[in-house]
Amino acid sequence: MLFLLIGGCGFILFLTLFRIYTTTQASFTPYRVPFLSYISQQLPPPNSTEQLELSMAGTIYALRLEDGEQSWQTEPSIPSFDKLVIDEMLNDNIGYYLSATNTRYLVIKASHRRFIFGHRFVNPDDSAYRMVVLLIPLLTFLLLMLGYFIAGRFFIPINWIKKGALRIGEGDLSYRIPYKRKDELGQLVDIVNQMAEDLERIFDSKRQLLLAISHELRSPLTRMKLNVALIDENKVSLRLTDDIDDMRDIVEGLLDSERLQGQHKALDKCNVDAEQLIWEIVDEYELNTNIELVFNQPLDQVFVDVAKTKFLLRNFINNALKYTEAKGRQIKVTAYLENQTFYIKVCDNGCGIAEQHKDHIFSPFYRADQSRGRKTGGVGLGLYLCLLIAKAHGGDIQVTSELGKGSCFLANFPQ
Ligand code: ADP
Repeated sequence: MLFLLIGGCGFILFLTLFRIYTTTQASFTPYRVPFLSYISQQLPPPNSTEQLELSMAGTIYALRLEDGEQSWQTEPSIPSFDKLVIDEMLNDNIGYYLSATNTRYLVIKASHRRFIFGHRFVNPDDSAYRMVVLLIPLLTFLLLMLGYFIAGRFFIPINWIKKGALRIGEGDLSYRIPYKRKDELGQLVDIVNQMAEDLERIFDSKRQLLLAISHELRSPLTRMKLNVALIDENKVSLRLTDDIDDMRDIVEGLLDSERLQGQHKALDKCNVDAEQLIWEIVDEYELNTNIELVFNQPLDQVFVDVAKTKFLLRNFINNALKYTEAKGRQIKVTAYLENQTFYIKVCDNGCGIAEQHKDHIFSPFYRADQSRGRKTGGVGLGLYLCLLIAKAHGGDIQVTSELGKGSCFLANFPQ
């Protein structure tokens, strides 16, 4: 748009100047006067208009020559001397005169001849004039296109930087922008790449620390559990066992997440009977939990990591149970194959998830309702691990939920 605007303004400016140049009387600049008086002295008495035109060819001036009763003129628009009025006299024989239309003429008197000089006006029908008027916009347009194309090429690296920054911002810290020039944009790319590298290093060392702690905590936790089991069961020992179980869940969850995120994805995929896989999990729950299982069509074999898929489904169902009141509870598990993708969906009629939490519930340790935490158990790692599992299979998880009405979690596993 900017280019078009500049081009349009340039074109209008050019046309205006062109018009001023072709119509102005100001170009009778002082040095033209001696030139034209020289011409008028040298001009042989013309025999015809053609001869006069020949003499004036190549100049920008039109001429009417009056010699007694006779007159010749190169352009019909030049009025005769008696139709002109004095505007400004330079000396006795040379002066500017104005016509009835206010056009300025230079009149030179030489003995019995009168030379009336005016500007040769451009004839709009003139093919050369038409060429110029057509060529200018065309050339302007072509130049603009060229400018736009060249500017576009300058902006290509900016698009790469934009895409790169978005990918890095989405968490793909191993991504580097592939631009290797030494210009200003190259320097900017280097800075962004360096920033990604630094971030990757910081996150990596944090993860390593977390993993090292998790690893180290495993053995003391097992020992603690054993020791608690040795003391007589009472309220305190039971609470301790619960807390130790929570801590073990966190440690195992963190170690699992590392395995799923690692370079070598920890998936052990095989062909399994999808219906059987789902049934095995649903069968783990008691009948009074009100879980309804629906297969939209008979399911074939699917190629997934059985243990991880079971973990995901178990987690979905556990959440549905946790976040739905027992009274009137309805949980529906649906599994189907569509477009070469295996879908598992778990819906409940529970408390639902508020809009502001929806984007965060897949983040590690995020819990929408902190106060509920103690009551329901769980540490906020379940959905994070589920998402990692789905992603490791090349799939994803979508959630739809309405506060107070219920939620649906849909995981897909491309086959
Ligand atoms: P948690 O151990 O807290 O259940 P999750 O990662 O499984 O951790 O879930 C994260 C948060 O998502 C939960 O704290 C809860 O607020 C919300 N959530 C998950 N599933 C449901 C559900 N079916 N209904 C309502 N909220 C849910």
